[in-house]
Amino acid sequence: MKYYDNKRILITGGAGFLGSHLCKRLVSEGYEVICVDNCFTGSRKNIAELLSNPNFEFIRHDITFPLYIEADEIYNLACPASPIHYQFDPVQTTKTSVHGAINMLGLAKRVKAKILQASTSEVYGDPEIHPQPESYWGKVNPIGPRSCYDEGKRCAETLFFDYHRQHGLKIKVARIFNTYGPRMHPNDGRVVSNFIVQALSNKDITVFGDGLQTRSFCYVDDLIEGLIRMMDSPDDFSGPVNLGNPNEFSVLELAKKIIEITGSKSKIVFRPLPQDDPCQRQPDISLAKEKLDWQPIIKLDEGLKKTVEYFDKILATEI
Ligand code: NAD
Ligand code: UDP
Repeated sequence: MKYYDNKRILITGGAGFLGSHLCKRLVSEGYEVICVDNCFTGSRKNIAELLSNPNFEFIRHDITFPLYIEADEIYNLACPASPIHYQFDPVQTTKTSVHGAINMLGLAKRVKAKILQASTSEVYGDPEIHPQPESYWGKVNPIGPRSCYDEGKRCAETLFFDYHRQHGLKIKVARIFNTYGPRMHPNDGRVVSNFIVQALSNKDITVFGDGLQTRSFCYVDDLIEGLIRMMDSPDDFSGPVNLGNPNEFSVLELAKKIIEITGSKSKIVFRPLPQDDPCQRQPDISLAKEKLDWQPIIKLDEGLKKTVEYFDKILATEI
């Protein structure tokens, strides 16, 4: 690839969990990558190995403010994803999804870039249809503690499709289901990282509710492959498309698996279920299979082992 025809790719939220994996993958493929992040839940540590690479640039910036930059493609990932973090400052969470989307869509319009939105399975809320296809409109509480995230992401999808219809922007919307792997923040409160950190330190494993609620867990490498295929798909396919692993497990099953893999002495304890916690969640990925020829290949046990190895290392050095 010649330097003058190299694609320049902007990744907002690039110093976070998913963003840092995406930055690393795209830099390794030779692209020029600009990572924009305000480091609310992300960290320079996540991208430390890229900072000296001439094809990589980090800009500390909050996307609720306008950004003037040139890019060919934009992955809009900026937004805290863990319930404790997106509920910490709910107004800022909505601003990040809504004002952030307006700013990034405006940027895409000005420089004629293709733009992908990291949407979420939370747009389905506590779903009455199982598994969830993209055609399902969801059951979302508009005024609860999760609404800043759920409704913010729904409004962002609306903005993406309106910029597409009104201004002819090339857009891509990916609805990401629970994803886990190395570089999740050890204290970010999501279930996989919480249980692994608790198990490795032989502390009680905190199962919320009766633990019979389900989630479908996708390993990060599979998800990143899906995002890139979505960005590279033909312009007449905007989505939304579900990206996730359809293998569904209860939270209690997950806790037992993690105890087994780590050989931990931890006990399982039950804690109150947070308000509006969805009972079940499983992606229907028929559309991703058909349009992107994509499906996850990493099984939960294999992905958990890799994630446990990562946390084992960082707990030994950092905590
Ligand atoms: P994360 O919290 O690790 O990463 C989010 C990144 O966005 C962080 O680096 C944070 O500092 C940055 N950020 C937050 N607000 C910002 C702002 N106003 N301006 C600039 N940067 C800002 O979370 P993640 O798991 O990597 O999630 C990335 C994206 O994927 C999010 O948009 C999230 O909603 C979406 N998503 C993730 C999952 C998942 O399971 N990981 C599931 C569904 C959707
Ligand atoms: N959960 C749990 N214990 C924890 C953290 C989470 O039982 O220490 C449950 C949570 O109530 C939810 C599921 O695990 O039912 C997934 O939670 P997470 O915050 O990872 O993501 P969500 O899918 O709810 O956004």
